[in-house]
Amino acid sequence: MGILLASEERVRPLTEGPITVATLCSHSSLQIFHGVKAEGLPTLGIARGAPPRYYQAFPLACPEEFLSVPTLAEIGTLLPRLKETHSVLVPHGSFVEYLGATEFAALDVPVFGNRNVLAWESDRRKEREWLDGAGVPMPRRYEEIDEVDGPVIVKYYGAKGGKGFVLAKNRLALKDFHPTGPYVIQEYVLGTRYYVHFFYSPLSETGYRVGSGSLELLGMDRRDEANIDELYKLGAQEEILRAGIRPTFVVTGNVPVVLRESLLPQVFDIGARIVERSLELFGGMVGPFCVEGIVTEELEFKVFEISSRIVAGTNLFPSGSAYSDMVAPRLSMGRRIALELKAAQRTGRLREVLS
Ligand code: ATP
Repeated sequence: MGILLASEERVRPLTEGPITVATLCSHSSLQIFHGVKAEGLPTLGIARGAPPRYYQAFPLACPEEFLSVPTLAEIGTLLPRLKETHSVLVPHGSFVEYLGATEFAALDVPVFGNRNVLAWESDRRKEREWLDGAGVPMPRRYEEIDEVDGPVIVKYYGAKGGKGFVLAKNRLALKDFHPTGPYVIQEYVLGTRYYVHFFYSPLSETGYRVGSGSLELLGMDRRDEANIDELYKLGAQEEILRAGIRPTFVVTGNVPVVLRESLLPQVFDIGARIVERSLELFGGMVGPFCVEGIVTEELEFKVFEISSRIVAGTNLFPSGSAYSDMVAPRLSMGRRIALELKAAQRTGRLREVLS
C-alpha cells in the first residue's frame, strides 16, 4: 500500500485561499491554535456548549471563530460551516475519545493525517500487531495467568487513562483477579517513563529520512499520573491494598524531560520502524505521534503504547522544546502542523497530508 491520498472532492476546495485549522476546544487545542495563528492561518474552535471561558485568558491562542454543539454527537450540524471555512480538522485525544474513533473516521471533513490510523491505535491487539510487525521492543505479553512469572500490569481494552488497571507483583497476587471485560496481561516494566513527541512529514526532503519523508523529534515529557505517582508515600503495595486504595493512572499533568543523548539512536530507530510499518499496513502515519515507553536499567527502551495523533504533553512547548529548538526556532507541534499544511498547499501535495 502506498501513502494515503485524500479524495479529490475533499481536497479541491482547499487548493486556493487560506485553510482554516479546526479542532475541539480541549486537550491540546490552545497549543494548536497558538501555533497555527503564529503561522497566519485562520482557526476555528468547536465547543461542547458555550466556548470555554478560560480561552479569554489566552488571547494569542484564542480562535477567531467558535462553533458550539450541545454534544459532540451533533457535530454533523457543523459540517456546512466547516466546509464553508475550508476547515481541516486536527484530531487530538479528547476529540477522538469523546466522539469515538469510528465516528471521527467517518466525518465528511478533511482531517490532518491519516484517519485510518485511529482504528489501529484504539484496539490494543491491532496496535500490538503493528508494533510487533515493526520489530519494536515491547513489554512481554502473557497469554494466560498461569504463564505469569514476574510483576505484571493487566490492562482492559479502551481503559483510557489506565482506569481499572490491575498491578500484581506475581502470579499469586492475581488469584483474586476476576476480569470484567477483555484484557491483556503485560510484563510490568521497571524503569523510567518517557513520552516521545514525533512528527512525520511525507513532504520534507531533508533531515532524518524515513520512507519518502523525514522524522522529526519535537519534544518529550513524562506524565503525572494520579494516584500511582504518589502512592509510594503510603508505603508497600500490600498495605495500600489493605487500606482499600487501588492504583490508577489518570493523567493530571505533564513535566518536560530529556533523554540521555546515547539513547537517541534507539528512539529514532523505534520511531522510524513504526512509520515504515504503518506505510505497509494502512498507508502511513502523517504528522504528530507519540511513542510511550520505559527505559530499563539495562538502557533498553520498551514501548508500551503509541498515540498516533498529537498528545497533551506537547502543551509544554508552545515556544519550542530542548529538541524542537534544534529543528527550527520556537517550533511547537501546533506550528509544525500549520507549516506542513502550508507547504502541502504551496506544492500541490495536500492529498498526501490529509485524509
Ligand atoms: P492513555 O489512553 O491515557 O494513554 P491507556 O489507558 O491507553 O492510557 P497506557 O498508556 O497503556 O493506558 O498505560 C497507562 C499508564 O500505565 C502508563 O502511562 C504507565 O505509567 C503505566 N504502564 C503502562 N504499561 C506499563 C508497563 N508495561 N509497565 C509499567 N507501567 C506501565
